[in-house]
Amino acid sequence: MTNLFQNSVSQLEKVAELLKLDKKTVKKLITPQRVLSKKITVTMDDGSRKKYDAYRVQFNNARGPFKGGIRFHPQTDLDEIKTLAFLMAIKCAVVDIPMGGAKGGVTINPKKLSIKELENLSRNWVKVFKDYLGPTKDVPAPDVYTTPQIMDWMMDEYSKLVGRHEPAVITGKSLKQGGSQGRDTATAQGAMYVLEEAVKKLKLDPKKAKVAVQGFGNAGYNIAELVYKAGYKIIGLSDSQGGISDLRNSGMDPKKVLKTKKAEGQIHSCYCIGTVCDCVNYKKITNQEILELPTDILIPAALENQITEKNVHKIKTKLILEIANGAIDPSVSEILKRKNIMVIPDILANAGGVTVSCFEWYQNRHKENWSKQKVFKKLKEKMMKSFNHLWLIKDNYKTDLRTAAYILAVGRIIEAMKSKGRI
Ligand code: NAD
Repeated sequence: MTNLFQNSVSQLEKVAELLKLDKKTVKKLITPQRVLSKKITVTMDDGSRKKYDAYRVQFNNARGPFKGGIRFHPQTDLDEIKTLAFLMAIKCAVVDIPMGGAKGGVTINPKKLSIKELENLSRNWVKVFKDYLGPTKDVPAPDVYTTPQIMDWMMDEYSKLVGRHEPAVITGKSLKQGGSQGRDTATAQGAMYVLEEAVKKLKLDPKKAKVAVQGFGNAGYNIAELVYKAGYKIIGLSDSQGGISDLRNSGMDPKKVLKTKKAEGQIHSCYCIGTVCDCVNYKKITNQEILELPTDILIPAALENQITEKNVHKIKTKLILEIANGAIDPSVSEILKRKNIMVIPDILANAGGVTVSCFEWYQNRHKENWSKQKVFKKLKEKMMKSFNHLWLIKDNYKTDLRTAAYILAVGRIIEAMKSKGRI
C-alpha cells in the first residue's frame, strides 16, 4: 500500500480496534471493489493525438450506487484517486445518504487545453468508463478543475452512448441540463452549517474571529464569501499561484479579490488564469505561510496533505474546517488534539457537496425540481443531524470528531454489507 492511501486507512484500522472488528471485515472495508486505470486519447486542435492516464476507483457500494467526483489535475495519480474513493464511501455513510464511494480523475493540466480539447477529454473519459457508469451503478460529479460544463458534456456523451436521455448518470450539471438548485455552493454551505455549530461549542465570537482560507475555487471561494457575509474577518486567501494576507485585520472581501483576479487574468476556456496575488494592497505569502497565520479558524480548501508533521507545530489556530479532502495527514491528529485545536474532518466538513449531489440524482430520477430553499433546508437538517451525532459519539468515546465520524460510518457500512451477505 502506498503512503497517502495507507495514511487514510490507518484511521479506519484504529477504529476497527476500538470496535473489535475481525481482520477479514477490516480487509473488506479497506479494499476497493474495482480499480480502473486506462489511457485516454485527446485530439488536439492541431490534429495531433495525446494520451493521458485516466482512472475510476469504485470503493464500496454496499449502501447504494458508487458516487464521487472526477478530478483533472497534473499531480493526480491512482493512489490519490483510490484514497479519495475510500473517503467518499466513509463520507456518504457519515451523512447517511444511500450511496457508496468512488472517485475518478485524469493526470492532466486542463488549463493548458482549449475549450474544444477539454470537451474531447471529458467525452472520452465517459467513453472509456461507460460500462461501469449509470444511475444505479456509478454516478460521478465535479471535483478539482471539473465544472458544470464538463458534467453537461459527460452526461450528453453517456446519453448518446446508451441511446436515451440520462441526466441521473452524473451530478453537478448546469441548471439547464438538470442540475440542482444550490449544488454550486452546496459544499461551502454545508461546511458553514457545521462551522456555526462548532463556533458555538468553542464560544468564539464570529465578529472577532480571524479566518484564513487556502484555495479559491468552488469550495474555497464560496466558504470565504459565506464567512465574510457572516461577519468573520478574513486575513488570508490563496490559490494555486500563492496567497495574500492582511495582518492589519481589516478583513478581506472575497468578492473584490475575485474581481481583481478575473480582471487581471483573462478567462481561459473554463478556467481563470489570474490569481488572488493580483491584489496589490495585500502582503504576498506562500501556500505554506497561509496555513501558519495566527487565526481562530483555518480553512484548507485546496488539496490534500497540507498539514503534516513538517508544519503542524507552526499551526496557530483554534479550529480547522477541513474542506479539502485529506488536507490533514492523519498522523498529526494527536498533535492537533494536544495543541487543543478542534478539527471538523473532511468527511463531515465537505459532505454538503455529495449530499446535494444525491438530492440532484433523486430529483432527476423522480423528475422533480426542488427550490433552493428546499435544497438548503434539507441540507441543513442533514449537516446538523450528522454534526450532533458525531458530537455525542465524540463525548461517549472521549475521542475527536474524525474518529467519531469513522465509528459512525464504519458501523453503517458494516450493517449494509452484512445485510447483503458480503461479510
Ligand atoms: P476547484 O477546482 O474549484 O478549486 C481548486 C482551488 O485550489 C483553486 O483555487 C486552485 O487555484 C487551488 N489550488 C490548486 N492547486 C493548488 C496548490 N498546489 N496549492 C494551493 N491551492 C491550489 O476545486 P474545489 O471543488 O474547490 O475543490 C477543492 C477541495 O475541496 C478539493 O480537495 C476537493 O476534493 C474538495 N471538495 C470539493 C467539493 C465540491 O463540491 N466542489 C466537494 C467535496 C470536496
